[in-house]
Amino acid sequence: MEQRINWSDLSFGYMKTDYNIRCYHRNGSWGELELSSSESINIHISSTCLHYGQEAFEGLKAFRGKDDRIRIFRPIENARRMQSSARGVMMAELPEEKFMEAVEKVVKLNERFIPPYGSGASLYIRPLLLGLGALIGVKPADEFVFLVFVTPVGPYFKTGFKPAPVCIMHGFDRAAPLGTGSIKVGGNYAASLVAGAKAHDAGYVSVLYLDPKEKLYIDECGPANFFGIRDNTYITPSSSSILPSITNDSLIRLAGDMGLKVERRPIPLTELSSFEEAAGCGTAAVISPISRIDDLDENRSYVYSSDGHPGPVCEKLYRKLLSIQTGDAEDPYGWVHILP
Ligand SMILES: *Cc1c(COP(=O)(O)O)cnc(C)c1O
Repeated sequence: MEQRINWSDLSFGYMKTDYNIRCYHRNGSWGELELSSSESINIHISSTCLHYGQEAFEGLKAFRGKDDRIRIFRPIENARRMQSSARGVMMAELPEEKFMEAVEKVVKLNERFIPPYGSGASLYIRPLLLGLGALIGVKPADEFVFLVFVTPVGPYFKTGFKPAPVCIMHGFDRAAPLGTGSIKVGGNYAASLVAGAKAHDAGYVSVLYLDPKEKLYIDECGPANFFGIRDNTYITPSSSSILPSITNDSLIRLAGDMGLKVERRPIPLTELSSFEEAAGCGTAAVISPISRIDDLDENRSYVYSSDGHPGPVCEKLYRKLLSIQTGDAEDPYGWVHILP
């Protein structure tokens, strides 16, 4: 019996789908893509991913358009970023073509889980790369598995596109100045759980991290990049400890198209008071507008929205990017990969 999915009731959580795909790297080369219906993997208890965090992941989305075609947003960028993460923690790099083939295949095989056009929901795609093998000394694995699974997810903003508060806590970093902040590895997330839980308990959706070296500049906004808007300018941090977000890269181009100036440079903490709008950005939410930033150590607040509505630039960028992803707007940069 096929389960009926209530598309309007989906959360941003996990739901079992029909298939996932695995591909093993053994004896120096990648094998064939293998189809599986199991939600488990059988790996050695000594695997480096388990002990030493030798792993990386990605996150991207597929959308069903009005024309019923399936669109995946910029998957080649995820393939490349996963290669960069692999280099960063000494894992085998998966060729771009193999990544693309696996993503296309897993989406197609789980087509019945792709939410309908107009539901606001999408199919979240989660690629993983893990170090395997019977090793206990600290060294890179000699075997790896790449796997991709999918799960339908509801719109990130269940109650509409609304700003939410974030906080600054000077006593926490998510990554070291020249550490792994610029690659997408699970360790960065483990390192941010305590600060994240503290922030949530205090009513904030995210932690806005300061640069881990001098604590003078804005760094990462939880699991998202940060940007601010001022004087018709899109301003986003450059830092060696933030992840190169594909959403941010896309917004930067769209902002330019809309006639905004773009600045990518260190943003001093003291500049927060001058922004007209502020937000986080990433695949999950596209844009998470910030209503208020509370600096919990300096007892200062920066308010960007107090009426429950995002600023006009955030709103415009959000609508534009979303409409490109779903195929409602033209795709001038060839970002959208339509399933063959
Ligand atoms: C994945 C991620 C982002 C967002 O990247 P996108 O490519 O836009 O999804 C931002 N920051 C961190 C720390 C991330 O892990």
